[in-house]
Amino acid sequence: MDGFGVYIHIPFCRRKCFYCDFPSHAGEEALMRRYREALCRDIAAKGSFCLSEGSVRTVYIGGGTPTALLPDDLLAVIAAVRESFRLTGAEEFTVEANPGTVDAALLTHLRTAGVNRLSFGVQSFSDTLLSAIGRIHTAEEAEDAVRMARQAGFRVSLDLMYGLPGQTLADVEDSVARTAALDVGHISAYGLAVEDGTPFARMEAEGRLGLPTDEACGDMYDYITQELPRLGYLRYEISNYAKEGEESRHNLAYWQDVPYIGIGAAAHSYWQGRRTENEAGLRRYIACIEEGRSPAREEEPPSRESHMEEFAFLALRTATGVDKRRFCETFGCAIREVYGEAIGRLQAAGLVEESAESIRLTALGMKFGNRVFEEFLLERDEVHGEE
Ligand code: SF4
Repeated sequence: MDGFGVYIHIPFCRRKCFYCDFPSHAGEEALMRRYREALCRDIAAKGSFCLSEGSVRTVYIGGGTPTALLPDDLLAVIAAVRESFRLTGAEEFTVEANPGTVDAALLTHLRTAGVNRLSFGVQSFSDTLLSAIGRIHTAEEAEDAVRMARQAGFRVSLDLMYGLPGQTLADVEDSVARTAALDVGHISAYGLAVEDGTPFARMEAEGRLGLPTDEACGDMYDYITQELPRLGYLRYEISNYAKEGEESRHNLAYWQDVPYIGIGAAAHSYWQGRRTENEAGLRRYIACIEEGRSPAREEEPPSRESHMEEFAFLALRTATGVDKRRFCETFGCAIREVYGEAIGRLQAAGLVEESAESIRLTALGMKFGNRVFEEFLLERDEVHGEE
């Protein structure tokens, strides 16, 4: 195996943002110490299990908000990763951070502990919008946190959102300009999706969310996709932009079908072709570890067709697209044998382009990705056509 990724999930936040349906909890501070202890035990067990499988390429501690933990707890988790896995040669060690939960002392500790990349959820540089979406920090705190992180020697990524309630194109322009002025290496830009069960879903149902029109969201999208490359951030995935060499190696590996081990409540793993998902409930996850039971539940083994679909979906999200040779090596047939008609239709619509090496989205295809992905869904009966 040519290396693998490690993902650690920290399911705590100071407060839930109004749009968020990620597996994270606010108001569970009393469980943090038990979670840390359970997590460290699980990390040690997974480390021994993976030891014969080569070295770790990347580590990503995400959430939730890892920096919502007490510094001692977060540093203990990082130490457990370093002790349990072979990290020599690991290229990237990322921790997600909320600008409202970091200070210079914590950043110094993280850097000394071997973390070399921070990913800040900032979303906007408008205080009005930050408050309207439930963020706990101000724009100025975000700028201070990013500056401190850069001074401490981290590679920095920053998340922005567009299509927020009450947001205008001018807000997006301002956020992009202030992000670029911070000279971060990596920017993720996500359109708001109103997810079931969130406060935003309830507000929308009551007609009081005040989302921008589709046309206004389209203008924001067009601005971001044109302005970031102009500022030197190349779009290497549908939602991700980086200066040269600043791409997220960890996320690129997800999109390139590389194995990873996920540790913690609700974490997913992709290991030796099998997918598992950990117990999502915080207390249930802790109980599994404390009682010596596995928290992992095996997902239904993917059929060959669903593996093909997923392989194509994930690779199409990237600027390099689907590597035809890797598709052939993985599935024993040329991509055109499976998707020839779909590729023809999408080429005619200007949504994908093909070279000798790859099939990839055009700029139009990136904008209307869902139309492309629909075409890559396989009709099960056709695949088993001879039956
Ligand atoms: S900080 Fe991140 S994980 Fe936590 S509630 Fe907000 S969006 Fe969700």
